[in-house]
Amino acid sequence: MPHNVDNEVMNSAALSALHNHFGDRLSTAEAVREAHGRDESRIDFQLPDAVLFASSEQDVVDALELARTHKVPLVPFAVGSSLEGQVIPVRGGLSLNLSGLNRVLGIEPGGFQATVQPGVTYPELNRQARRHGLFWAVDPGAEASLGGMASTNASGTGAVKYGTTRDNVLEMRVALIDGRVIRVGSKARKTSAGYDLKNLFIGAEGTLGVITELTVRLWPLPSELVVLRCNFQTVQEAAACAVGIMGAALQPERLELIDEREIHAVNVHLGRAYPEFPTLWIELGSPSRAALEESLALCHELCRDAGGQNLQAAYSPQEREAVWEARHKAYSSMVALHPGHVNLSTDVCVPLHRLPEVLDATRQRCDERELDASFVGHVGDGNFHVLFHAAPGDKPTWDAIHATYDEMMALTLSVGGTCSGEHGIGLHKQKYLAQERADTLGLMREIKALFDPEHLLNPGKIFE
Ligand SMILES: Cc1cc2nc3c(=O)[nH]c(=O)nc-3n(C[C@H](O)[C@H](O)[C@H](O)COP(=O)(O)OP(=O)(O)OC[C@H]3O[C@@H](n4cnc5c(N)ncnc54)[C@H](O)[C@@H]3O)c2cc1C
Repeated sequence: MPHNVDNEVMNSAALSALHNHFGDRLSTAEAVREAHGRDESRIDFQLPDAVLFASSEQDVVDALELARTHKVPLVPFAVGSSLEGQVIPVRGGLSLNLSGLNRVLGIEPGGFQATVQPGVTYPELNRQARRHGLFWAVDPGAEASLGGMASTNASGTGAVKYGTTRDNVLEMRVALIDGRVIRVGSKARKTSAGYDLKNLFIGAEGTLGVITELTVRLWPLPSELVVLRCNFQTVQEAAACAVGIMGAALQPERLELIDEREIHAVNVHLGRAYPEFPTLWIELGSPSRAALEESLALCHELCRDAGGQNLQAAYSPQEREAVWEARHKAYSSMVALHPGHVNLSTDVCVPLHRLPEVLDATRQRCDERELDASFVGHVGDGNFHVLFHAAPGDKPTWDAIHATYDEMMALTLSVGGTCSGEHGIGLHKQKYLAQERADTLGLMREIKALFDPEHLLNPGKIFE
């Protein structure tokens, strides 16, 4: 499914100006351009004309100035793990690789915060924060960068307790296409000072400016942890249990669901024998073992009352890792099980009390159309993903997938949900954003035009 757009090839004057300024940090090598022409969804592909490996904020400012002068589209690129086509340079131009801005500039343990360059990955920040007894709580599955995560407002398994990236970024420096570098937000824990420009750039997918520095929140590492794994007969039953756990104010560290198809994929791919049922993982944390045991006992009761079976608890880091294995390996196992197929992951989020019915209805639609679709959810947030797959040329199956996707989205929006809980819009969700935000899409375009009147910053993303 290539995304058909005209690639406005960068002219030679622009290329020479970039070469003269950046020397061998600018690459036009085929292999380098190819690595910057796709994201992890692997659905669309388009080469940039050149890739610049930036290593400082000044590089970013200079690249933006050259892009403006020569009318060259510029696409920020960090790790490239996004899933909605966000980093694909659909109009060619310059891919601005920010992975070289990879320094943790400071950790302030007393303020529970760290200041980082945007190319720092979250596992690296966690490695450095650990010695202070602190951690960064947002954990998308891939080893994403802080700048990329801010730009998609990523979340992951920790969001149920600690919030999304938006909730965990205090302040940022952002380079604009007009040459300014602005500071948005504040290092204080809260602020009521004027319009909230920080949150305008979070989730903007690099369409408004380039983030060059972030000050982010860190959290104390919980001293006691336990994870409980539990099987259910249906996905709906598991989701209803998740709603009950949230209602009991247990404040789980993580609350995750995968269905029996994903467990089957893990069993086949890794040679395991996990019971092939919809499964919940509930991780609880506490400063004391006694309090943890009380929460665990209540959690056991709630799971059993909701029809849960095969309950298994794990305390030590090694045991917990083993219990989490099927959840962590689900995506790669599903992909490995169908070589040559294209995968399409969806990402809806609904009000928590509507989750069981939306999951159930979506599952029924998939079954009616005999689709081999699997489900994974950050269910404590009401957020779930359906992973579809089919051979690239299998038109009847793709038609059925898109019809199911459209129906799931219509249902999601009808119950007050959103077309993207955490992956963003990129190229793939523009039609659904237009449905969800029909009344404010025009205003969003006006904001885009204010920051980027010539549409040079990651053009073609979020909306055409
Ligand atoms: C196996 C797997 C599991 C995943 N699980 C989750 C999950 O649980 N939750 C979740 O939210 N996501 C998940 N993702 C998606 C992905 O990890 C996130 O979208 C992540 O935020 C992308 O970060 P990145 O560093 O790879 O950014 P990139 O993909 O490089 O870029 C993402 C977007 O940000 C822009 N950008 C990057 N850096 C900057 C910057 N400094 N300034 C301005 N714009 C910038 C880019 O132009 C692009 O639009 C998963 C992906 C995979 C492959």
